[in-house]
Amino acid sequence: MTGMKSALITAFLGITPALAFGIAVAKHGNITIDPECVKACSRLRNIFGDIYSPGNANVTVWDAKQQETHSACWIQPSSTEDVSTILGVIIDTSCRFAIKGGGHARVPDDSVSAGGVTIDLQKMRTVAVSPDRTTVTLGSGHVLLSLYQGLEKYNLTSVAGRVADVGLGGFVLGGGFSHLSPKYGFAMDNVLEYEVVLPNATVAIVNHATHPDLYFALRGGMNNFGIVTHFTMRAIRQGQMLAGSRTYSTDNRDAIIHQAYRLTTEWKNDTSMAFYYSFGYQQVTDDFILAVSQEYSRPVLRPAPFEQLNQIPFESSTVRLGWNSQFSIDSASATPPGGRNLFATVTYHPSADLDRRVQDIMVEEIQSVKTTPGFHPNIVVQPLYEAVVRAGRERGGNAAVILLTVRWENAQDDDRMNALAQRWLERSTAAAKKAGKYHPWLYINYASKEQDPFRGYGEANLQRLRRIQSEVDPQGVFTSQGLCRGYFKLH
Ligand SMILES: Cc1cc2nc3c(=O)[nH]c(=O)nc-3n(C[C@H](O)[C@H](O)[C@H](O)COP(=O)(O)OP(=O)(O)OC[C@H]3O[C@@H](n4cnc5c(N)ncnc54)[C@H](O)[C@@H]3O)c2cc1C
Repeated sequence: MTGMKSALITAFLGITPALAFGIAVAKHGNITIDPECVKACSRLRNIFGDIYSPGNANVTVWDAKQQETHSACWIQPSSTEDVSTILGVIIDTSCRFAIKGGGHARVPDDSVSAGGVTIDLQKMRTVAVSPDRTTVTLGSGHVLLSLYQGLEKYNLTSVAGRVADVGLGGFVLGGGFSHLSPKYGFAMDNVLEYEVVLPNATVAIVNHATHPDLYFALRGGMNNFGIVTHFTMRAIRQGQMLAGSRTYSTDNRDAIIHQAYRLTTEWKNDTSMAFYYSFGYQQVTDDFILAVSQEYSRPVLRPAPFEQLNQIPFESSTVRLGWNSQFSIDSASATPPGGRNLFATVTYHPSADLDRRVQDIMVEEIQSVKTTPGFHPNIVVQPLYEAVVRAGRERGGNAAVILLTVRWENAQDDDRMNALAQRWLERSTAAAKKAGKYHPWLYINYASKEQDPFRGYGEANLQRLRRIQSEVDPQGVFTSQGLCRGYFKLH
């Protein structure tokens, strides 16, 4: 088992190997390392040998709350066989665990295990393009930059996201908004086959023909069905394209909101065009700022859909022709790791009035917490394109997905920030309902811990997903009472 030899394991963040492997129960802040996990880590170390330290291994964990989370040990498998062995040991010892892709989740235990084993997939980054160059099989540990770089040498791409260090795993398993979504739907709509280590630690090749139910469930089912080790996705010919972002002062807010509405409704048939925009508070200036991201998947510097938008005076611009890998690096520099973060989301049918309203609600709600250290709230308006809707009927008609992001610095402000998001959610949801524009579908990758995105998939889908989960995982390993409890659970 050559792959196994190169898998790495160590104790994490101040838990010395002696402590993690030698003593029955260790306590780190609020987190207890259970004896089961001491045993699991010890057995994994016996199998895989090497010691690996997240601190010096270029590990991305985006959110500070997850960075602070203590695991009994971390392991980096190199192959599907490794993942299967690891899961076998974990189940055998009944130790809790979490699966980490690009590490962009925001709640402890989502992808960094609180007290158990963190399975970090980042060494699994193979790129295998099919001979006819229409599909590509990707290791599930890719981040979007490594995926773009792997494919650009073939003048190919796949339906992937905007930010270099976001992981393919969480991105695709939850949906995946891409600049190519107007043409091809979500990233998950472009997965032809999954290789999965199932909850009983065996490996399955899952496609529409082999396992139709599980294939359905993995499209949006996140980490409820096993550990995905490879995704086979549609490969798309792609050269340089237009992308970048422009910032605007709030004097132009009405004009931007109007343009966003126009682009969503009048230009929806130009599927080369994608955009999103944000409205955020800047503590340094005690003011708000807008940013519009323009994307056009062909090398056209001034495409027709953005002609009117381009008349609006802007403050700064990175809009240019280039390669997606480079754009993804630019976007990552605007959203660096660190800081405590939360996401919350609401969906409604396109409405300029509602865009303004949810922004105004944020403005009202932040007044009492504006001086919180490191405070940065932002609202992103992301159109839910018709191709996405066509690919998944339950996602409803043409819609706008609204994402509230809040960043702050100190743990003592966690409760205040969560309360702020909750108030914004309640008021924004009520506003959308009152306007008759509310849509129950929620993008799982933007939802807050308090939200229930699976319910938004529709009752029939929810029941079907639950049934498939019970069939695939009769022991409940990937459930809220099982061993892998993080993120959103079906049971
Ligand atoms: C800065 C930033 C930018 C973003 N930009 C976009 C964007 O452009 N478009 C968009 O759609 N979304 C975007 N998102 C949301 C992003 O898609 C989600 O946060 C996603 O879940 C992150 O995936 P990850 O692998 O990086 O995170 P992780 O925290 O590693 O994983 C998230 C969840 O997926 C599970 N998981 C990961 N890999 C696997 C696997 N192989 N098998 C089973 N379970 C797995 C984990 O257990 C975890 O519960 C962004 C988020 C951030 C923070």
